[in-house]
Amino acid sequence: MKKTVITLADGRELFYYDSGDGEARGQYADRRPLEPMHRAAETRHDEAQGEWIAIAAQRQNRTYKPPADQCPLCPTVGDRLTEIPAPSYEVAVFENRFPSLGGPDGGRCEVVCFTSEHDKSFAGLSEARAALVLEAWTDRTADLLGRPDVRQVYVFENRGEEIGVTLAHPHGQIYAFPYVAPKMDRAITQAAAYRERTGRNLFEDIVERESAGERVIEENEHWIAFTPYAARWPYEAHLYPKRRTSDFTALDDAQRAAFPPIYLSLLRRFDGLFPAPEGRPANRTPYISAWHQAPKRAPGATTEAALHAEIFTVRRAPGKLKYLAGAESGMGAFASDTTPEQAALALRSAGR
Ligand SMILES: [Zn+2]
Repeated sequence: MKKTVITLADGRELFYYDSGDGEARGQYADRRPLEPMHRAAETRHDEAQGEWIAIAAQRQNRTYKPPADQCPLCPTVGDRLTEIPAPSYEVAVFENRFPSLGGPDGGRCEVVCFTSEHDKSFAGLSEARAALVLEAWTDRTADLLGRPDVRQVYVFENRGEEIGVTLAHPHGQIYAFPYVAPKMDRAITQAAAYRERTGRNLFEDIVERESAGERVIEENEHWIAFTPYAARWPYEAHLYPKRRTSDFTALDDAQRAAFPPIYLSLLRRFDGLFPAPEGRPANRTPYISAWHQAPKRAPGATTEAALHAEIFTVRRAPGKLKYLAGAESGMGAFASDTTPEQAALALRSAGR
């Protein structure tokens, strides 16, 4: 893998990741007349909930559903100047121009472009490209965890307008939080209590309990995907490396090599949940793929956390979405319309 770093016109960093030596992507400068980046986001602590909230008012002006010929994530071709100055790329990562984090309180938001092809989706990538994306996630995780203002690196993909995606180009994001995000904080507290009670690791036991059960969706030698026992979403898959690792940087070569086929297959299963009627364009299920990684710890310190992806869709039936209404939004109390066992069966059966 070759990494090339450039600086955009407003001072943001951009990284190209190439599978081979790469071409000389660094020779293309950002020709846009951009004002210097204004990092105004702040974080506030909600004392009643014990949770941090990112306040980022400047995001109101961000690019909203541009037509395909004005996509800021396509490569720069001729005088159509985009966020990515090179005329082609494999994987590109850059600092978000409208970040939710990164003011004086620290943190950073990045955008990860999986391909220069506007109409592709992650599920349509080659295994080689998925492996390169994993390299990019790993490199960014190591780099961001090394920053003094970062506590947790959260890699995710929002896909589909139903999720609120404002750019159609296949891309994901990285939030490098200056704090431990509420869900991770709770999981670590739970795992610590479990260790106290049982002397064992919570996530290792969850994977072991699920591995022979009816909620397994798919597995290979190094990874396993299942629907969780208490799923919140209509269709939800949790993907774990079978040997627990703290984060992307701790994956070994065998785990890395076994990742692309199972991740691509899982995403295709989500697309296969609601097949398009004959003659209609292929269906794209809206989903969120959320990567949980252990927060930063002291050198040499161990963690109870486990790297894994939680992938879920808000679509519960063709044309029907699950909305987070009174119980979920008001109380954080989820109710699911499907059983996890039915959902696992549907995902197992969904075309690849
Ligand atoms: Zn595009």
